[in-house]
Amino acid sequence: MVIGIIGAGASGMAAALAAAENPNANVILFERQARVGRKLQATGNGRCNLSNMNAANGGYHGETPDFVLPAMQAFDPTATLKWFAELGLYTVTEESGKVYPYSDQANSVVDVLRLNLDKPNITLKLGFEVEKVQKTDTGFLVAGQGEILSCDKLIVCCGGLAGSKLGGSMSGYKLLAQLGHKSTKLRPSLVQIKTSWGGVNGLKGVRANCHVEIFEDGEPFNQSTGELQLTEMGISGPVVFEISRDVCYGSGEWTAKLDFLPDWTETQLSDELNRRRSSNLPMEELLTGILHNRLGRVLTKTAGVKGKTFIKELSDSEAQAVCQAVKSLEITLTEPLGMDSAQVTAGGVRTEDFDPETMESRLIPGLYACGEVLDIDGDCGGYNLQWAWSSGRMAGSHAGKETR
Ligand SMILES: Cc1cc2nc3c(=O)[nH]c(=O)nc-3n(C[C@H](O)[C@H](O)[C@H](O)COP(=O)(O)OP(=O)(O)OC[C@H]3O[C@@H](n4cnc5c(N)ncnc54)[C@H](O)[C@@H]3O)c2cc1C
Repeated sequence: MVIGIIGAGASGMAAALAAAENPNANVILFERQARVGRKLQATGNGRCNLSNMNAANGGYHGETPDFVLPAMQAFDPTATLKWFAELGLYTVTEESGKVYPYSDQANSVVDVLRLNLDKPNITLKLGFEVEKVQKTDTGFLVAGQGEILSCDKLIVCCGGLAGSKLGGSMSGYKLLAQLGHKSTKLRPSLVQIKTSWGGVNGLKGVRANCHVEIFEDGEPFNQSTGELQLTEMGISGPVVFEISRDVCYGSGEWTAKLDFLPDWTETQLSDELNRRRSSNLPMEELLTGILHNRLGRVLTKTAGVKGKTFIKELSDSEAQAVCQAVKSLEITLTEPLGMDSAQVTAGGVRTEDFDPETMESRLIPGLYACGEVLDIDGDCGGYNLQWAWSSGRMAGSHAGKETR
């Protein structure tokens, strides 16, 4: 039995290893890039947040989020870590539930998977972009690079459109469409949000602990506290990724309120500013020692403290304005950045056409799909890779087990 697997990313490698557990299964793993796991290597800022211990309890989105449940129960984060340990990867779990390789290097995850693919019943075809797939009476034809190969079962693991510089593309959606599968609307998720606030211009690369509250037409939409990253165009980082799914869609007006000192009350900050008001230091040092230097200067300026040279010239109303800029800065959000910058694709191939117990197509027996190509996207913090492992294992083990 020949099992064709398209895409040697996270879910494709998990599927290949699971399918190859049946010694009678011959796996052909097609990868259009020159090496396996290109995107995986870039995950988690090069650290690879490979799972989250809370992933079995939810954190997934799509037309039918419950589609993930059978795969997540069959191969939950605990089973995933055991599997990785068997493959040779030592992991650490942070208090938050996020799991990383002990080496702190995404490369280790890719290497361990790559080395385990070296099996007599797995053939890796690198630099092979599958362009066309076709159903035959007995299986499938897979065409690309001037070659046509046949297989009995086919698993599509091409990933999504997000992160296009790392290999994200429309390929999987198109190949599955050739076999009759439809996709929902695609949009970027886990992505930075642009703002019209000019202050961000000089804040590229600044990180801050921040409480972020998002509003749609003035109504609270979502909020969280955590690491905010400022870019030249907007706000990013884990705290934004956590709460920005679906932000800036629709016709509403979107705003965010930022509290750069969530652990301090306004009175604490006001007392500290009063204490500093006897200082002969220049005004740009007003928030030095409290916030990142560049952030402190921009917020002081945003508060309208202009034309004053020394901190001792700060008036009561100006001190209050600085408190407000630090504790409740209101900015307008304009739009999310595009797919290039997104970590995951919201939307994908319709899950109602697949069996969640096996990942097999309900339209074409012997065809499977897993990972991000399906209409499932997870929260920030290891949820997307956990979905790739769980759905990949499920597709691979079922394709490898069945006899037709
Ligand atoms: C910058 C960045 C950081 C991220 N960090 C994290 C993180 O820390 N934790 C987390 O959980 N998630 C993270 N993600 C999301 C996560 O990487 C993806 O959700 C996950 O890799 C999806 O797995 P997949 O197997 O579905 O797709 P991929 O891993 O993208 O693999 C798909 C593979 O298919 C190949 N392919 C596509 N089309 C074809 C074709 N026609 N023929 C042959 N090969 C093809 C591609 O080249 C690719 O190698 C991050 C994403 C990005 C972009």
